[in-house]
Amino acid sequence: RVIHLNAAAAQLAPALRKNELAQFALRSPEIITALREAIATTEPRRATYLDHVPVDRWMELVITPVPVPTLFGGTDKCMLMTFHDLTPLRRVEEMRADFVANASHELRTPLAALSGFIDTLQGPARDDPRARERFLGIMHTQATRMARLIDDLLSLSRVELSAHVRPDTCVDLIPIIRQVADGLEPLARERQVVIEIQLPETPVMIAGDREELLRLFENLIENALKYGASGGRVIVSLKEAASGEGAPEIRVLVRDFGPGIAPEHLPRLTERFYRVDVGDSRLQGGTGLGLSLVKHILNRHRGRLLIESVPKNGATFTACFPQVKTPVAA
Ligand code: ADP
Repeated sequence: RVIHLNAAAAQLAPALRKNELAQFALRSPEIITALREAIATTEPRRATYLDHVPVDRWMELVITPVPVPTLFGGTDKCMLMTFHDLTPLRRVEEMRADFVANASHELRTPLAALSGFIDTLQGPARDDPRARERFLGIMHTQATRMARLIDDLLSLSRVELSAHVRPDTCVDLIPIIRQVADGLEPLARERQVVIEIQLPETPVMIAGDREELLRLFENLIENALKYGASGGRVIVSLKEAASGEGAPEIRVLVRDFGPGIAPEHLPRLTERFYRVDVGDSRLQGGTGLGLSLVKHILNRHRGRLLIESVPKNGATFTACFPQVKTPVAA
């Protein structure tokens, strides 16, 4: 019978009521057995407690016998039940498992294609030079895709490992953005897209990691070129603004004029392996990890990513960085 319960217990196990029997509230046989055993043996017991209403929750229950002195000099045998909410840990565990499953699946797909073509080249296409050329081309694409995936996975884990350490070097954003845009010029030409750069002439310094910033802008501009190609132009610009809390920010905007993204996808774009159209992303050599990497890099820089899109009228990805208080030379 419940003698007392604190506010946290009432919240975690809302069925528990003062003066009522605990086993009526916590109907699980595992808990009832643990409770009986703890009473019988006066030794602590553990049990798991699952609740599904209103949301799934996993708890560990520890039952510890405690002798409580009575008014008349004796002792009452009471049980102290503590609930530990393990839901967040469990979620992380599930995400980790999902991630491994997704990553293995993504790696297995090009690998299966490679093995298939090797078999064909060793067998039916052995003496067919034209088929050999074509298959080798496909194999090269698949191998490149695997390499890219592994690269992205490694970058992601590297950024995550250092997420708690803010970059301490001061870098000028302008040459970094220009270098990325110049590097993507061949892709832009191939897709018949013009990259318009609207950047200030003077340096714009932030506390940042050069390599990570290169990857960040590369992902954003490359996405605009790949998914927004039909718009024919991509604008990369920079402006100063205030964050939600009023702190000064540097914002780099990458705007395209392609098909845009439907609103229901926007909140999920930075999830690992999330793609609006898996077939399209694969066709473009995408891994589904680019925006997740962008988000992690921005987190490490204590910045944030804004995504706005009007379907049929393109998308704008904005990388926001906190402004350094006093300008420091590079
Ligand atoms: P991917 O490797 O597939 O490009 P990303 O994480 O970079 O992975 O992007 C996730 C998805 O977001 C893409 O597959 C695409 O569907 C969508 N996306 C990203 N940028 C744009 C854009 N500029 N316009 C339209 N869709 C985009």
